[in-house]
Amino acid sequence: MTHEKKHRIIGIIGVLFLATVLLLNVVLVNNAAKRELARKEAELAALSPDAVSLKGTGKGIDGDVVVQIIADAEHIYDVQILQQNETQGIGSVAVEQLPGEIVKNNSILVDGITGATVTSNAIKTAIREALASGGFDPAVFEVELAAAAPVEKTDETLECDVLVVGAGGAGLTAAVRANQEGADVLVIEKMPMVGGNSNRAEGGMNAAGTKLEEELGLLDPSLGELQSTVENYIADTYRLGHDLANMDLVRTLAENSSEAIDWLGSIGAPFTDVEPTGGCKGRKYLHQPEGGEPVGEYLVTRLSKVIADQGIEVMLNTKATELIVEDGQVVGVKAEDKEHNYTIRANAVVLATGGFGANFELMSSYDPSLANAVTTNHSGATGDGIMMAQAIGADTVDMEQIQLHPTVIQENGLLVSESLRSKGAIIVNTEGKRFVNDLAARDVVSQAELKQPDGYCYIVFDQALVDGLSLAQKFIDRGFAISGATYEELGKNIGLSDEAVKNFVATMEKWNEDVKNGEDTEWGRESLDYDLTTAPFYAIKIAPGIHHTMGGIKIDTEAQVIDTDGNVIPGLFAAGETTGGIHGGNRVGGNAVCDFVVFGRIAGANAAAFAAEGVLAAAA
Ligand code: ADP
Repeated sequence: MTHEKKHRIIGIIGVLFLATVLLLNVVLVNNAAKRELARKEAELAALSPDAVSLKGTGKGIDGDVVVQIIADAEHIYDVQILQQNETQGIGSVAVEQLPGEIVKNNSILVDGITGATVTSNAIKTAIREALASGGFDPAVFEVELAAAAPVEKTDETLECDVLVVGAGGAGLTAAVRANQEGADVLVIEKMPMVGGNSNRAEGGMNAAGTKLEEELGLLDPSLGELQSTVENYIADTYRLGHDLANMDLVRTLAENSSEAIDWLGSIGAPFTDVEPTGGCKGRKYLHQPEGGEPVGEYLVTRLSKVIADQGIEVMLNTKATELIVEDGQVVGVKAEDKEHNYTIRANAVVLATGGFGANFELMSSYDPSLANAVTTNHSGATGDGIMMAQAIGADTVDMEQIQLHPTVIQENGLLVSESLRSKGAIIVNTEGKRFVNDLAARDVVSQAELKQPDGYCYIVFDQALVDGLSLAQKFIDRGFAISGATYEELGKNIGLSDEAVKNFVATMEKWNEDVKNGEDTEWGRESLDYDLTTAPFYAIKIAPGIHHTMGGIKIDTEAQVIDTDGNVIPGLFAAGETTGGIHGGNRVGGNAVCDFVVFGRIAGANAAAFAAEGVLAAAA
């Protein structure tokens, strides 16, 4: 028997053995099953007398990843994931693919899944721990894999009406919309999973003048300045972007936001809650899914379902490298995967490739201080679309406008969503004091944090907040939130000095009193809907991190790409973070999602119309 065949047989037997063991744990143990187990054990023992079943644990993105392996000193025969709560569409890809790769190569040194590093590492750590617990040396399985023979790539030509480049929020939205308009749509995505940065958006989607706001009384004229109207939303977006944005684009964003919410409802992604948006003086635009589910994952999952239901093809691991231009019109892209060089011909192309918040070279060319900063961005956010568009003459705007988010866990770039503050969390420094309106615009809070002693701060919340906002729980599960039964205990647990603990207790009591009286006497925060009185109390250590690149490809209100002479580039549309001009010098929290839905819809509808008729859609 060849080694490979023996290995495969042992693997199959191992799987059966493990399945049997698990079954026996939960189902009645009967004699027949016992006999079967004995038989499998005997078979496994005959092939590998030392193979044993072992468990190990690694830290995933959202709690422990527990694996069960069958191994001996020289072979890993089987890997099963017993427990995990990884992000759907990101970590879940590693959970599906990595165990098989490790068994196939008999090595832990297989490549992790790009974009799912934390989960990949958690699985590997868990396997190492399992091996060690059985007395096996994990180093035996740390063998470098022989470099794969270079693949001779084949040329392939594909055709479609509308090609969408990038499968984040903007790309998925544009694809669904173009398909609804009757176009034959193809989506290409360079990563092994869809979702991009959009999948990481947590807080919500801003929109104004929506049916939900109407139902909740937020459009009542008696609210005066607090009304969630389109005009207030335009003013807030423009003001918070330091009056730098393109007003026509801001207006398009706001005026189409309510319809975008309706459209999401129509495709199975309704919103049930509206909270204050950071920096907007208490005005409520931030639409959230039921129970505070993270909005990005919520929308990406639902858009992906529509994509699957409508039979739209998404080619993963396929990277666009250049735009094809004929007679001044974009007619497709060149793209590649591991085995092919593609020429994809399309009547219209939508660039939805996201921002460049993971391209440190490009960012530091605008601001050298960002070279060593932490980023919340996924590794695919490298600005490819911007560079491809520039290469054919497209103009860019506001490229130097790069946003720092104020609440980022520095060890891993994990973002603590603004929705925690919308739901009542506050920020204190290491002296136990508040130092800013915690719900001011992101740049204001980030700059204030950078001036605090020690260069980091704490976001503080209570159990009532966690109960109403499911995404807060993950910080507790992953060990990033330190807790205390009282304010004093929490202050001590996060390591504040005795003096700072006293300050912290006073800060919390003052905050609760201010909430009761409806006025933040210290820092003028406008939304004071929730006190922080339900024990236990929690604090997460945070500091600013790179979050959003506001600049990008210049577009008009029809999502058409504009060249450096101010003319439309026919056949080329762009939407989402790859574009510039919508957010000016600072993106409002909740506006990235609104941006990708509103402009994704416009780009999709217009690309479909252009592909069919050579003209734009009457209305998106
Ligand atoms: P947006 O919010 O604008 O949709 P995202 O970051 O969510 O931005 O999504 C952008 C997507 O585009 C990501 O999934 C990213 O991997 C993908 N992408 C980036 N560059 C390319 C490229 N050259 N080819 C194909 N896909 C790309």
